[in-house]
Amino acid sequence: MAVDLAAKIRDVPDFPKPGIVFKDIMPLLADREALREAVERVAEWAEPKKPDLVLGAEARGYITGGALACRLGCGFVAARKPGKLPWRTVAAKYALEYGFDSLEVHADAIVAGQRVLIHDDVLATGGTAKATVELVEQLRGEVVGLPFIIELEFLHGRDQLEGYEVFSLLKY
Ligand code: AMP
Repeated sequence: MAVDLAAKIRDVPDFPKPGIVFKDIMPLLADREALREAVERVAEWAEPKKPDLVLGAEARGYITGGALACRLGCGFVAARKPGKLPWRTVAAKYALEYGFDSLEVHADAIVAGQRVLIHDDVLATGGTAKATVELVEQLRGEVVGLPFIIELEFLHGRDQLEGYEVFSLLKY
């Protein structure tokens, strides 16, 4: 029988601040069957897109993103917060509730024409995902899809990603 993935997501009210219900994927990651099933189901969606690379967003996007890259036979690219990567980088800014933040990737992490899958644990407002799309396109990679574990539909993150193929395993 298929694993009940939704049962492995823990709702943490008022984290990291009042009014936010944090979707904690740690119970899913800690359960070997749930982890395998989640990665496998995302991989089945992604495989026909024939990606060369999986790009994961800091930090939880690295965990399932790394597993996904391995399962798909892809390389992995880390999008990090400013100042964390040691080599030459390109950056993309995105809006937060108050102010801005940015993400960076190494300038040589993606070669023009490579097919890139963008992955994170949660699609919320879509700001992070949109910034990662910009990073890939600055390096002239092709974004072939954006699979997430969780999508918070009430935040309409997909609206920021019009024209791209978006997939999520669990919707709230
Ligand atoms: P956004 O840019 O608003 O789509 O936010 C996406 C990023 O913030 C992802 O890296 C998520 O891991 C994290 N995030 C946003 N909202 C939540 C939430 N309610 N629960 C867990 N993670 C979240």
